[in-house]
Amino acid sequence: MSVFLISFFGSIVAALLVSWIRRHKNPDPTPANSNKTAEFSRSKTIIFSSACVLVSWLCMVVFLIAVFLPSFGIESNIVLATSLISFFVMAIIYLLTSFQLKCTNCQKRVFFQISENPPFSIKFKGLTGWSSIVLQVLLMNSFTCMHCGKKHSIKSNA
Ligand SMILES: [Zn+2]
Repeated sequence: MSVFLISFFGSIVAALLVSWIRRHKNPDPTPANSNKTAEFSRSKTIIFSSACVLVSWLCMVVFLIAVFLPSFGIESNIVLATSLISFFVMAIIYLLTSFQLKCTNCQKRVFFQISENPPFSIKFKGLTGWSSIVLQVLLMNSFTCMHCGKKHSIKSNA
């Protein structure tokens, strides 16, 4: 039970920390082509949602490492349990928050990818589709809708 609580609150704190860092890292940008860029209304939610994805990816990495620890004689049951629970907690929060995140132009959900190659998906840091948008949100102050190609700016201190 305590493992569950630690995973649950630990992962939420980690996601909040990532989104806090993300929001305080960059000053408000002035988009170069602001006439083509729409400001995204739910900046806080999309940053938090993306942070949850990032933490869930980290949990997966920790889980995969923990799988191999016993072969080096290291007990890893608690690490396996916490990383797995944290992963599911983050995935659920991500799914719940991403329901609210719609493109202001096409009204489609920005993280919901139906086809393998969405028409306006941008390759960013080697990723495409929804995972590319996660990194765009966290690393840049903007993202491009993969459904319609509309560019959205995200307020840093929203
Ligand atoms: Zn769109």
